[in-house]
Amino acid sequence: MPEHNADLVILGGGSGGYACALRAAELGKSVVLIERDKLGGTCLHYGCIPTKALLHAAEVADSAREGDKVGVKSSLSGIDMAGVNSYKDGVIAKLYKGLQGLVKSRKITLVEGTGKFVGPNTVVVGDDTYVGEKVVLATGSYSKSIPGLDIGGRVITSSEAIRLDEVPQRVVVLGGGVIGVEFASVFKSFGAEVTIVEALPRLVPNEDEFASKLLERAFRRRKIAFKTGVKFTGAKQTDDAVTVSLESGEEIEADYLLVAVGRGPNTANSGFEEAGVTMERGFVLTDERLRTNLPNVYAVGDIVPGLQLAHRGFAQGIFIAEDIAGLNPPVIDEAGIPRVTYCEPEVASVGLTEAQAKEKYGEIQTLTYDLAGNGKSQILQTQGAIKLIKTGAEGTPGPVVGLHMVGARVGELIGEAQLVYNWDAQAEDVAALIHAHPTQNEAFGEAHLALAGKPLHSHS
Ligand SMILES: Cc1cc2nc3c(=O)[nH]c(=O)nc-3n(C[C@H](O)[C@H](O)[C@H](O)COP(=O)(O)OP(=O)(O)OC[C@H]3O[C@@H](n4cnc5c(N)ncnc54)[C@H](O)[C@@H]3O)c2cc1C
Repeated sequence: MPEHNADLVILGGGSGGYACALRAAELGKSVVLIERDKLGGTCLHYGCIPTKALLHAAEVADSAREGDKVGVKSSLSGIDMAGVNSYKDGVIAKLYKGLQGLVKSRKITLVEGTGKFVGPNTVVVGDDTYVGEKVVLATGSYSKSIPGLDIGGRVITSSEAIRLDEVPQRVVVLGGGVIGVEFASVFKSFGAEVTIVEALPRLVPNEDEFASKLLERAFRRRKIAFKTGVKFTGAKQTDDAVTVSLESGEEIEADYLLVAVGRGPNTANSGFEEAGVTMERGFVLTDERLRTNLPNVYAVGDIVPGLQLAHRGFAQGIFIAEDIAGLNPPVIDEAGIPRVTYCEPEVASVGLTEAQAKEKYGEIQTLTYDLAGNGKSQILQTQGAIKLIKTGAEGTPGPVVGLHMVGARVGELIGEAQLVYNWDAQAEDVAALIHAHPTQNEAFGEAHLALAGKPLHSHS
């Protein structure tokens, strides 16, 4: 068996794995990156990028349909899925090429094949053995289903939904989390009748209740149907349709059932458990420095319990590379990782929810700034609000520890929001900064002005 040695052997070339590879190479390490499918992983090929391209096409469709609202004569004559897919695939292809070039230029050895971690520092790919001074497990995640519900035919996951060649007329989306509401938004904009079924009491249940409430209100206005607190009991399909049954006895017929009930860790067949890695429900357990229980073996990204987000994977990958290089990077604060749901309207947040802040700090103060007072939001004709949470009672100093936003394009405001949280800023600090008029970003400044006790365009 040919044996290859490197400073770092990384199993999985998605966001977490390739970010680690790029940073480690930059720091002078020799790196082997093993990928069985496509460099870039879920985010580039099946996740973030394709879905956001679909959401952009959806926004264009809405603009065409709603031109009349601003006096522009336009109408939507149809969605050409071949055209949508070729636009989306073009975006992916360009980014993929760029990433391949980056990996090559940093002299990372990319091994195409399925790897098996056999421990203690070794990954086997076919007949080859790769021995790393350090090993990083980065095998990512897959779309889960629920027991008894097989994926196939008219029952699909996000992987199939990103490449449908027709616009469905009726879709049931099982799961009202991030992926579910994003697809519901796309399908509705493309003209489908959409029903979301969510077992928990609200859409985007991991967000602050404020965000769920505003999103639900917006979806009602958009005529996206949703049933929350309702259990799915089964689905039967024919060649043309699928019938979804709910615990209430109700049945809904649709062209497709999109299963969006979360993502499970992709760890079953890669040798981790046999090699002695400590796992829990398939996830790889690590300490806060992303070290597994085995010496010199790290884990990164969706296989590590926590937020399953590409930029968390990037940050963790960079962290591991720097840790290995002896740079002693600071531990990543999971709450400081920005979260954006890109449906229409968008939902964005960073820091703690009101419930979490109360539990952690006891006394807190909240402030909600309605986008009705923001000129640019009115120009865009969007509704929504920004909610801030600070520690301590009104009038006392305390950092802003939670920022939550709902409205068209508010995802773009998350950059400033994450600085506020991660730099422990107080409302007064942000209120003193000047926000350009008329931008939506100005709403962010106004919310902090109001929280600092000097509201401008708000009644609070
Ligand atoms: C529909 C959808 C939309 C999303 N939208 C967003 C978004 O807007 N923003 C965001 O931040 N996140 C988003 N995500 C989540 C994001 O894609 C993931 O958090 C991210 O890809 C995780 O990176 P990772 O490196 O842990 O895993 P992955 O990207 O899944 O990469 C793991 C890689 O390992 C490879 N692999 C696995 N096992 C082996 C093996 N044995 N040998 C060799 N290779 C192996 C796989 O082929 C894969 O390429 C979305 C996900 C989905 C599904």
